[in-house]
Amino acid sequence: LVLGLTACSGGGAGSDGGDDAGGGDAAPEDMTVGVAMPTQTYERWVNDGASVEEGLEELGYTADLQFANDDIPTQQQQIDQMITQEVDALIIASIDGSSLTSQLDAADAADIPVISYDRLLTNSENVDFYVTFDNFAVGQNQANALLYGLGVLDEDFEPAEDAPEETLNVELFAGSLDDNNARFFWDGAMDVLEPYIEDETIAVPSGQTTIEQAATQRWEQETAQERMENLLTSTYSGGEELHGVLAPADPLSRGIIQALRSDGLGDTIEDGLPIVTGQDAEIASVSLIADGVQHSTIFKDTRLLAEQAVNAADTFLSGEEPEANDTESYDNGSAVIPSYLLPVEMILQDNYEEILVDSEYYTEEQVESGQ
Ligand code: BGC
Repeated sequence: LVLGLTACSGGGAGSDGGDDAGGGDAAPEDMTVGVAMPTQTYERWVNDGASVEEGLEELGYTADLQFANDDIPTQQQQIDQMITQEVDALIIASIDGSSLTSQLDAADAADIPVISYDRLLTNSENVDFYVTFDNFAVGQNQANALLYGLGVLDEDFEPAEDAPEETLNVELFAGSLDDNNARFFWDGAMDVLEPYIEDETIAVPSGQTTIEQAATQRWEQETAQERMENLLTSTYSGGEELHGVLAPADPLSRGIIQALRSDGLGDTIEDGLPIVTGQDAEIASVSLIADGVQHSTIFKDTRLLAEQAVNAADTFLSGEEPEANDTESYDNGSAVIPSYLLPVEMILQDNYEEILVDSEYYTEEQVESGQ
């Protein structure tokens, strides 16, 4: 630690010059890190933002944290401004991964290291490091959870001995196509589901089996709810039964569940509600899992992701390179970006207590109230 500098914080965010980046001779107390997050409508990004800010401040940095209301021009402006104010490093969770190339060029010209956060920044060589979860594994876990919920797989995720004989009907949802993660989630899920579609263990009666058909622009809950309502009308109004839905994120899962419930398909899985997957372990969804409404979600500990991002920024600003654990998977179209991938965990009714409550991620009261 450098002595005495914490007291001199009167200069305000970003007034301290970006030319220290990589030099390793300035103190954190003299440096600002710009943190660009996509939106506050998803619980996770609010938590991510808070954890990154806290982690940076613990090391002595000033954090300039901005949310962009899922609006691309807003995010571009926020990052432009961070660069004008000479931040020393950037941590960016993009809305559209390909829309920030001119900002990334400017960051490169100013020697500002750029860390791509959770979502890959694409079509630019000017991305120094990527911290994320194993996104392909997220999709695989979602598909395995769906097959388990349908009774096709047993609790060891092996083919169940008492698997249903009839073909089971499922519908598929994907995330936003401008988010590189959406393809990883989809590819991971299809990697698991395809053989079961081929041998007719499961079917997709709507015929909507491409990611383009399944996509949910900007990950919006209402869009998913509407598509589910339309699918129920177009494909299931003649008495065909729906057994499960692959949903890639908890807010979408809740929109889908809303549509299924309104259609009278049941209030809980026990009384006929189809199996619905999820992602992010949002408190409202964990509560629904506890109540036997949503079947599963995927837990990604965003505190650990924030820690990796802070560590990467700090390492660059000390003049060193952060250590990657994956140097192959994430080709952004211009370069393969060195990445640090964190593991993910499937959450079900019988393990949420152990994984989320015993670890003090949530309290039992939060799970009960859903808040
Ligand atoms: C994130 C997910 C999130 C989704 C929607 C993805 O890029 O990895 O955790 O649910 O965006 O915000």
